[in-house]
Amino acid sequence: MRAIGHFIGGKEVKGTSGRTADVYQPMTGDVQAKVALASKDEVRAAVENAKAAQPAWAATNPQRRVRVLMKFLELVARDNEEMAELLAREHGKTIPDARGDIMRGVEVVEFALGIPHLMKGEYTEGAGPGIDLYSMRQPLGIVAGITPFNFPAMIPMWKFAPAIACGNAFILKPSERDPGVPMKLAALMLEAGLPPGILNVVNGDKEAVDAILDDRDIAAVGFVGSSSIAQYIYERSAATGKRCQCFGGAKNHLIVMPDADMNQAVDALMGAAYGAAGERCMAVSVAVPVGKTTADRLMEKLIPRVESLKIGPSTDPNADYGPLVTKEALQRVRNYVDVGIKEGATLAVDGRDFKMQGYENGFYMGGCLFDNVTKDMRIYKEEIFGPVLSVVRAHDFDEALSLPSDHEYGNGVAIFTRDGDSAREFAAKVNVGMVGINVPIPVPVAYFSFGGWKRSGFGDLNQYGTDSVRFYTKTKTVTSRWPSGVKEGASFTMPTS
Ligand code: NAD
Repeated sequence: MRAIGHFIGGKEVKGTSGRTADVYQPMTGDVQAKVALASKDEVRAAVENAKAAQPAWAATNPQRRVRVLMKFLELVARDNEEMAELLAREHGKTIPDARGDIMRGVEVVEFALGIPHLMKGEYTEGAGPGIDLYSMRQPLGIVAGITPFNFPAMIPMWKFAPAIACGNAFILKPSERDPGVPMKLAALMLEAGLPPGILNVVNGDKEAVDAILDDRDIAAVGFVGSSSIAQYIYERSAATGKRCQCFGGAKNHLIVMPDADMNQAVDALMGAAYGAAGERCMAVSVAVPVGKTTADRLMEKLIPRVESLKIGPSTDPNADYGPLVTKEALQRVRNYVDVGIKEGATLAVDGRDFKMQGYENGFYMGGCLFDNVTKDMRIYKEEIFGPVLSVVRAHDFDEALSLPSDHEYGNGVAIFTRDGDSAREFAAKVNVGMVGINVPIPVPVAYFSFGGWKRSGFGDLNQYGTDSVRFYTKTKTVTSRWPSGVKEGASFTMPTS
C-alpha cells in the first residue's frame, strides 16, 4: 500500500510518529494509501528547516523568486493530467472538475508573478524640512497554512504562492483525507528551483495543527475549513501573537427574482448546488424564489433536472458529480436529509438510496431537493456539505434580502434578475462577503480577493489578491533626514508637520 510521509527540507521523509490515517478512494470505497500523522517533533523539524532557509530566500531579489514560480507553472502544466487524476481518485470529484481545482490555484500563482511590483513601498519627498519618508514591505519569516479536503490543489496554492513570492518560508498542513496532490505540488516547487526548506508539507491531524499554532517561530497562520475549527485556530494562534486569517463554512443562497431568466437560474442552481457533490464552500445550498408563482415555476423545472442528475465514478468524464469524500461524510449528509423530513420540509427528490452499479462500496449519494424549508430548521441553519438543495420561499424582495443577511454564515450569495435596480440594491445591502449578480458561484478572480463574513471568516484580510501581499508582509516605515537639513539645538517638543 502507498505510504505518504511528509515533505521536509526538500525531500519526502517517512513519518516517525507511528500514527497514520487511511486515505480512501471514494469512488470504490477502498483504502488506497496510509498517510503519516506528524508529531510535534516532526512539525518542529519542518520549522527548523524553514528557519535555516528563509533568510537567503528573503534576500533573493523578487524577480528571481518569481522565476521559480514561472518554472513551477510550466511543471504544473506538464503534470496536469496526472495530478487531476490523483486528485479525483483521492477526493472523489470528477477529473474535469479536478482540472478546475488545479486551474483556480494556478491563477493565484500567476497573480503572484506580479510580486516585484506588488511589494513596492511608498516614498514621500519633503515630508518636513529635509525629511523624506519611505516604506518597505518585508516578509514575516515562517508562515503556515492549514487547508481543507475539498480543494486539495487550489487552496494550498492560494496560500503558499503569495507567501513564498513575498520571501517567506511556508509550512503546509493539508487535509489528511487527500494529501497526494499537496505533496506533488511541493515536489514540483523543488524541481522548479525553490531552495529546500522554503516549502514544507507536514501531514497530520490535530496534533500537528496544535504544534503549528503553539510554535513561536511561526509568525502567521492561514486556515480554511469548517467554522468551529476556524474559530479554535483563530483563538489559539492569538495566544502566541500570530497574525491569523481563518475561513470557515457557508450557507450560500441564490435568490430568484420573478423577472429572472428561469432557464438560466435553473442551470446555475444545478451546477452550483450539485457540482462536486455539493462539497464546495461556495456551493449554493439554499434557493430563494421570490413570490409563489416564481417558486412554483422553479420547482416544476428543478424536480426533473435533479431526478436526472448523472452520478458516476470520478473517472467518468460525463458524470455531473462523483462520490462524497468519506463514508462518514455520506452518513452525515444522509442524516441531514432525515432531519429535514422530521422537521417538516417537503422532500421533493430523494437521492439517499442511490447505488452506483459496479461501485457498490463507493460513497455515492443521489441529488436531494427540499421544498418549503423554513428559517428555524436545522437543514437551513447548518452547513450540510452534500448534494442537497433547500428551497426557502420568500414573499418579497425584502424577505429574500434578509435571509442571507441574517444567516450566521456570510460566504457567498447570488441574485438572479434582469432588473438593475434590485441587483444594485441587493449587492449594496446584503450582509455577505461575496456577491454574484446572475453568477451562481462568485469566487472572485485572482487579482481581487476571496473572503466571507460573519462565521465564514475570522481575522483580517482576504485570501489572494493584494490582501494576500498585506497578510504575508509587514510594513516598515523609514523617516530620514540628512545633516544638511538639520537645524542646530535639541528640541524637546513633539515634532509635528
Ligand atoms: P475541517 O475543518 O474538518 O478540516 C480543515 C483542516 O483542519 C484540516 O487540515 C484538518 O486536518 C484540520 N482539523 C480538523 N479537525 C481539527 C481539530 N479538531 N483541531 C485542529 N485541526 C483540525 O474541514 P474539511 O472537512 O476538511 O473541509 C470542509 C469545510 O471547509 C467546510 O466547512 C467548507 O465550507 C470549508 N471551506 C471553506 C472555504 C472558505 O474559503 N471559506 C473554502 C473551502 C472549504
